[in-house]
Amino acid sequence: MAVQHRIDEVLASTMYSTPGQAEFYQAVDEVLQSLEPLLQREHKYTDNNILSRIVIPERQIIFRVCWIDDKGVIQTNIGYRVQFNSAIGPYKGGLRLHPTVNLGIIKFLGFEQIFKNSLTGLNIGGAKGGSDFDPKGKSDGEVMRFCQSFMTELSKYIGETIDVPAGDIGTGGREIGYMYGQYKRITNKFEGVLTGKGLNWGGSLARTEATGFGSVYFADNYLRKVGNGLEGKVATVSGSGNVAIYTIQKLYEMGAKPVTCSDSRGMIYHKDGINLDTLHLVKEVNRASLTEYAKTHPDAVYTPVADYAKDTNAVWAVPCDVAFPSATQNELNLNDAKNLKKSGCILVNEGANMPTTPEAIEFLMANTIMYSPGKASNAGGVATSQLEMEQNASMGKWSFAEVDTRLQGIMKDIFDLSYETAEEFDNKGNIMMGANIAGFRKVADSMLDQGAV
Ligand code: NAP
Repeated sequence: MAVQHRIDEVLASTMYSTPGQAEFYQAVDEVLQSLEPLLQREHKYTDNNILSRIVIPERQIIFRVCWIDDKGVIQTNIGYRVQFNSAIGPYKGGLRLHPTVNLGIIKFLGFEQIFKNSLTGLNIGGAKGGSDFDPKGKSDGEVMRFCQSFMTELSKYIGETIDVPAGDIGTGGREIGYMYGQYKRITNKFEGVLTGKGLNWGGSLARTEATGFGSVYFADNYLRKVGNGLEGKVATVSGSGNVAIYTIQKLYEMGAKPVTCSDSRGMIYHKDGINLDTLHLVKEVNRASLTEYAKTHPDAVYTPVADYAKDTNAVWAVPCDVAFPSATQNELNLNDAKNLKKSGCILVNEGANMPTTPEAIEFLMANTIMYSPGKASNAGGVATSQLEMEQNASMGKWSFAEVDTRLQGIMKDIFDLSYETAEEFDNKGNIMMGANIAGFRKVADSMLDQGAV
């Protein structure tokens, strides 16, 4: 009772002191509620006010970003970097460029990142950043001028042993390149300050593929634990960006059949399996809409968002054995979870961050559909970013196979740790609880070691 009261108090004070940050409260609520059995058993965390401390970022940087568009007009955006927790290592986390970005979104992502990074077993702290700038529809020159202006300010707060940002929605290889160029110009340092770099200038092989590949490795570990792996399974995937594309590729490599993908405007259902070459061309090369995919494959069905059944995402209405939400937060709600149940889906494996709403998670668990939380199943990206940092620090370069083998090992370890921690707290199969407790414990114990800072 006292523990639940403490959790409620921290949630209430978070909502009071940081108004209007719904996604952040959602992330905090999920983590704190699932820590209850740990807090009951070990009083040191509440005795030392770890809950109140861990929900407050160590530092939040908010800045103006001015840049000049192709017509010569000055444009303004807001830049963010939330350096959430450095108890176990330098801050690490991606940069999101999307018009929906605000402080609450960056804080939810940064908070999740603390526990995700901890789960990797590597020494990296949690952070996140980005801007409400929308790269979509902008020329390369405009994207470059935005990235240079953004980095001009951000460069004051980052460094290879301080804070190492990476990509996220809207930030791919092109944007990382422009930002890295500007960082180098300002500081005169060629150092591993960003990850997701180009292969000619310090990038790691397999970093581009890592989040998607890692998500599929995680799912396979989970399925094998309870029966057979991915081979022969039909998979639905949302998104068509970095995570979704390499999820689809690895699903094929593991003998599964991915039949859907989506973007912000609509979704594709291709019953015979998504054509990876077309998807690469449409989304990575041409940066176009999925309507282009449908033009190339008349046997694929394109459904625009306007035609989705009310309060559903059409991706989750397609029959499947396993589902991989890999686009964005809260894209799989209670109605979608019910549709997945109807179609016989046995696993929801998150590639995106917080794509499943709390009500949907509750429904999945109540209906014994396996559920892998993103902070565990999509941790392969940040883990491989850390491997990029390791290569940069030693001036070395590892082969694709070497990085991929390390990634597979890390994903297996994260799965085992989450699974075993859930068992330790008498909640067998509750990977969300296992991941939250295991991720929290390492960070919280480190905070205790380091005193009142
Ligand atoms: P990305 O390459 O920019 O792709 C994002 C995809 O999601 C695009 O297909 C985009 O559609 C779609 N999308 C974005 N916002 C949407 C919205 N509000 N509604 C519907 N669709 C939307 O980004 P990403 O790197 O793949 O990231 C996807 C998710 O994975 C995010 O939650 C991210 O935080 C998470 N994640 C990424 C990494 C990584 O290494 N990249 C690591 C861990 C977690 P459009 O093409 O129409 O924009």
